[in-house]
Amino acid sequence: MSDELLKGRAWVEINLANIGHNLHEIKKIVSEKSNIMTVVKANAYGHGLVEVAQKLSQLGITDFAVATLQEGIQLRENHITGNILILGYTDIKNIHLVTEYDLIQTVVDEQYAKSLRDLSLTKKLNVHLKINTGMNRIGINYKNIQFIKNLYCSNAFNVLGIFSHFCVADSATLEDIQFSKEQISRFDDLIQKLKDDHIDTGFTHLQSSYGILNYHDSNYDFVRAGIILYGIHSEKDSFCLSNISLKPALSLYARITGIKEIEKDDTVSYGRKYKATKKEKIATVSIGYADGYPRNLSGKHVKVLVNGKEAEVIGRICMDQLMICVTDIDNVKPGDIVTLIGEQSCIRAEEIAEKAETITNELLSRLGSRLNYMWIDE
Ligand SMILES: *Cc1c(COP(=O)(O)O)cnc(C)c1O
Repeated sequence: MSDELLKGRAWVEINLANIGHNLHEIKKIVSEKSNIMTVVKANAYGHGLVEVAQKLSQLGITDFAVATLQEGIQLRENHITGNILILGYTDIKNIHLVTEYDLIQTVVDEQYAKSLRDLSLTKKLNVHLKINTGMNRIGINYKNIQFIKNLYCSNAFNVLGIFSHFCVADSATLEDIQFSKEQISRFDDLIQKLKDDHIDTGFTHLQSSYGILNYHDSNYDFVRAGIILYGIHSEKDSFCLSNISLKPALSLYARITGIKEIEKDDTVSYGRKYKATKKEKIATVSIGYADGYPRNLSGKHVKVLVNGKEAEVIGRICMDQLMICVTDIDNVKPGDIVTLIGEQSCIRAEEIAEKAETITNELLSRLGSRLNYMWIDE
């Protein structure tokens, strides 16, 4: 597709060089012993699964984490080599594809381990064991030591790694810090018990982004870098002990499609929730909630940039369009570019996510499939 077509209505631009920069910054704060497993699930948090993985491969990354079997297959079909760990459940009926595409399956709990074992596969399945140390989402209970030992000795599995997941690593309360430390010690004790039995544990890993930022003295074989790889925090002002300079990789743009003057007391958009208090100049913009720009940003005084100047979104956000107030901006005309998410503080993903009452992870991974994507590397 030509640039004109890609940038005709609403589009996302990904700066791959910024992902490279973030990777470099992350390396600075993780223990020398730890390698980086890059988390590229959910279309690389809306940044493009294949393009991001290709860039990371060029930068020497050999370990990737995805959430689903299909994401793993998509990477292989696009010639991504190295280790690809599926972090979540794969339907037992599709397990042959894990082997066929040389992926690594997570053993998500005790029942799943038994179901996999009962398949009596002819070839050992490559797995990492997920250990539940307190999040209670997935994982084998950390107390089931004998069960875990048996998995290492089973003919069904080739256990390449063992990992767990923090649930409050982004919190600064004493209670939560205590809980994260408890998770570390549950995981470490288990690893030690396996070692005491001369079991080769395979690769160990525990920290994701906030674990990297706030518990960086842990040194496991891998850290799993997700949101910070994309240059943003999950939330504005979130707890972050490490001083790390991140550059957001994603920008979201749309175009002004028309401009009109409205009078005092005129209203804008569905529901007539916005009422002009004076004569105003408003512009219509070619993006809406079907593109992933959340409808619940309506009425939240959210900002966009037009010709480098701040403008406010007014009235209800529609499915395909929204309106902004441009009374104080000169020379606005149809076709002008509007920046809705970018590096500038008023439109950073953290700012928009806060107003949408969510975290950046959700905001970016839910950007719509109708948007055009372009990647730059500079
Ligand atoms: C999504 C996910 C990650 C990445 O989390 P971030 O906070 O984005 O770094 C790491 N590990 C697991 C198990 C995950 O599900």
